[in-house]
Amino acid sequence: MSSVIYPSTNPAATEQWLSQRGEGVYVFDDKGKRYLEALSGLWCNALGYGNQELIEAAREQMQTLAYSHLFGGRSHAPAMRLAEELAAVVPVRSAKSFFGTSGSDANDTHWKLLRYYFNAIGQPQRRKLIAREGAYHGVTVAAAAMTGLPINHQHFDLPMEALGIVRAPGMHYYREAMPGESELDFSSRRASELETLIDREGAETIAAFIAEPVNGAGGVIVPPRGYWEKIQAVLRRHGILFIADEVITGFGRTGTAFGCATYDIEPDMMTAAKALTSGYLPLSASIVRGDLYEAMVEPAANVGAFGHGYTYSGHPVSCAVALATLRIYRRDRVFEHAAKVGRYFQRRLGRLSDHPLVGDVRGVGLLGALELMEDPARKKPFADNTVSQFMQQSAMRHGVIVRSLGPTIALCPPLIITEAQVDELVVALEAALDDSLEFARRGAR
Ligand code: PLP
Repeated sequence: MSSVIYPSTNPAATEQWLSQRGEGVYVFDDKGKRYLEALSGLWCNALGYGNQELIEAAREQMQTLAYSHLFGGRSHAPAMRLAEELAAVVPVRSAKSFFGTSGSDANDTHWKLLRYYFNAIGQPQRRKLIAREGAYHGVTVAAAAMTGLPINHQHFDLPMEALGIVRAPGMHYYREAMPGESELDFSSRRASELETLIDREGAETIAAFIAEPVNGAGGVIVPPRGYWEKIQAVLRRHGILFIADEVITGFGRTGTAFGCATYDIEPDMMTAAKALTSGYLPLSASIVRGDLYEAMVEPAANVGAFGHGYTYSGHPVSCAVALATLRIYRRDRVFEHAAKVGRYFQRRLGRLSDHPLVGDVRGVGLLGALELMEDPARKKPFADNTVSQFMQQSAMRHGVIVRSLGPTIALCPPLIITEAQVDELVVALEAALDDSLEFARRGAR
């Protein structure tokens, strides 16, 4: 065993396999076995491996200016250009971007921006942030508190109350709908539960609501019909800001440029990371509506400078790679390609719903999930996640990397995947499902 402390890993089960090199949508292990990366690493490697243009952009920037910061009045062209380009494409009005290095730190930054903003405009009582059950917003302290998954809370004693985190229910229609409840009725119920929560807490004490347009790490949960329209109506009625966490759904993943466009969400703030650089270098953006930012400028004379920033905020090499990534997305019409292949992917995946292990197939664009059930007809879940974990291993034996998230198998292939490669993925999934069914029938041992 090496001396690495591994993230999100059982300390008793580290170093199960080693990835060695990548090429397009494939990654190779240290023994030379090839796998189709059907989770794009951790939902990030949108353009696949070995993209020479991204490599060249990094090399060139390293040679010109390998490092510079953005503190205290200093700036550089790659960060300024990237913020301009983002403003031109994101669904946030007159967007301003604060750069970090991860989705987690970007959400922590949002938390601070909210406090700073409401203090600056004289509404310090707006301190609470509504986040949903099952959400994943990262693992730094404020982001982990926003996250609604027990695994990211246990043993950490997160200061939920001090951070003002208020929990709203999620949107998992398949699991949480009442018998016979339509998608629209479920969405209406969730909106009225949100309204009740806001009334209980006091709308005037709430700063914002944060959500992923489609839940990722919580199990790829797509919104039921009417959900976002109804939720947004409640938020607007109460003057509560909407932070769209597009760390996974941003940049072509859901069949349009952003999850917000797919679901008609009009966010006031947005989180971007992962596909912003196609995962080639760490970079995130906390994006805010221009007028919110402007409102902070004058009162800053009283409340002081925005005392928050990282050594690597707007790292020039990361920004240069992001600019090259955005250029490739535009020039090669990557989002259109992803939308087209995404429709094929959803059709092919849909056919797996007949498999005796599959309770639910869901997805949008190039995001997909299979929820495994002991008895799909009766919606009886397995007692634990042994079968889905087995399926993740089995998929690897069949040359495909997927991720088991509880009872769900998550899929998020690179945006450059072809229809033939989708076929290859689905054939491996079918084989892994059959293996897993046999495993389940043997008593999951
Ligand atoms: N927000 C969402 C929606 C995510 O999916 C993730 C990571 O998967 C994060 C935030 C945290 O990003 P990071 O792992 O870069 O901190």
